[in-house]
Amino acid sequence: MDTPGRMMQQQIQQGQKMQQRQKLTILGATGSIGMSTLDVVARHPDRFEVFALSAHARVDDLARLCILHRPRYAVVANAGDSAGIARLRDLLAQAGQDTEVLAGEQALVEIASNPAVDAVMAAIVGAAGLPPTLAAVRAGKRVLLANKEALVMAGPLFMAEVEKSGAVLLPIDSEHNAIFQSLPADYDGSLTRKGVRRILLTASGGPFRQSSQEELARVTPAQACAHPNWVMGRKISVDSASMMNKGLEIIEARWLFNAPAEAIEVVVHPQSVIHSLVEYVDGSVLAQLGNPDMRTPIAHALAYPERIEAGVASLDLFRIGQLDFEPPDSQRFPCLDLAYQALRAGGSAPALLNAANEVAVAAFLDGRLTFPGIPAVIAAVLDEIPALALDDLAGILQVDAQARRLAQQRVAALAR
Ligand code: NDP
Ligand code: MG
Repeated sequence: MDTPGRMMQQQIQQGQKMQQRQKLTILGATGSIGMSTLDVVARHPDRFEVFALSAHARVDDLARLCILHRPRYAVVANAGDSAGIARLRDLLAQAGQDTEVLAGEQALVEIASNPAVDAVMAAIVGAAGLPPTLAAVRAGKRVLLANKEALVMAGPLFMAEVEKSGAVLLPIDSEHNAIFQSLPADYDGSLTRKGVRRILLTASGGPFRQSSQEELARVTPAQACAHPNWVMGRKISVDSASMMNKGLEIIEARWLFNAPAEAIEVVVHPQSVIHSLVEYVDGSVLAQLGNPDMRTPIAHALAYPERIEAGVASLDLFRIGQLDFEPPDSQRFPCLDLAYQALRAGGSAPALLNAANEVAVAAFLDGRLTFPGIPAVIAAVLDEIPALALDDLAGILQVDAQARRLAQQRVAALAR
């Protein structure tokens, strides 16, 4: 993930900065991850200071967070929402809060790369998070990555920029955070050199783990969003239900840990207590366990390499009693194989997969597409648009737009 020498140097520098309080930008502050981050931050006013917060539509929530955490900047990502922007300014003025309100995509890039910022929590959902997250990486920040879609779309470019800028990339996704914790502290990007045989990525199986194909054809957005173990945003909840979340996470693991697809295996573990495992060549298997509460990986990354209180209850193994494991079912959940297919095809294929999935999930949430329609739309996009080599942000955004257009057509055709 990083060279050991550089990691150590950065830890010393960051240790020094930490004494001065880390200045934090939270992209996607009003979301599930954003709110959990602010919960952890509020427990440690001696360590963290909120520099900037962003939202897309929920300006009342953003105003409330600004009044509580007093950031220098608040960004409304949707620049077209002039009523929302005016409302945010009013709410802040009424509260006597002098946070400056900015709007639009460029403002997100500015708060992510501002020289005053130490760390950026990348918690925007979907492709919209890529430009500001990449800007934080290019500016050499400590980047706490929840926005897996950004890495799926732009893996090679993203990791090359991390290398170039010396940014420290820390995984927030619970599985990747668990893998990071279970790999050696001096992990240097080679599983073989470190004696790792394989990575076992755990999956809860989502709310439809035991549903039949016939039942899947009739499931509703409300059922898909009712995850058995985690409380999350709507898009990732649907991804968990379709297993595309695990598909995206395989690609995420490929880039974060430089792990070939063959070395990553998915294990369905319905209790979500083991967050992932690393198996070594001597037969040892190391895992990270904990209650399914995102404040654990968030606190781990915020304080890394130290440990801080996260407000998470102790793990009660007696109450849990039993841990179960089963193989994933790619017949009922074809998204998993589609993700492997995109990863193997390389180039622009993961960006196509991601864009088609975002369009299909939005259509499902709007009642315009059935649940099995999600993999059907993605498969059509992967089949119809050839994968090309990609090496810059403009090219990736172009592919993203092209895939979205075709996916919209496929959604419309399936609705007929
Ligand atoms: P939410 O939907 O709860 O929050 C998304 C955030 O992004 C909100 O602040 C939202 O603003 C903002 N946003 C939405 N659309 C845009 C846009 N077009 N431009 C800029 N900002 C936008 O999502 P989650 O917090 O659940 O997930 C965030 C990311 O973290 C996702 O990539 C997800 O895969 C990842 N993740 C989440 C986990 C979880 O437990 N929730 C676990 C692991 C990873 P507004 O509120 O104003 O709409
Ligand atoms: Mg996850």
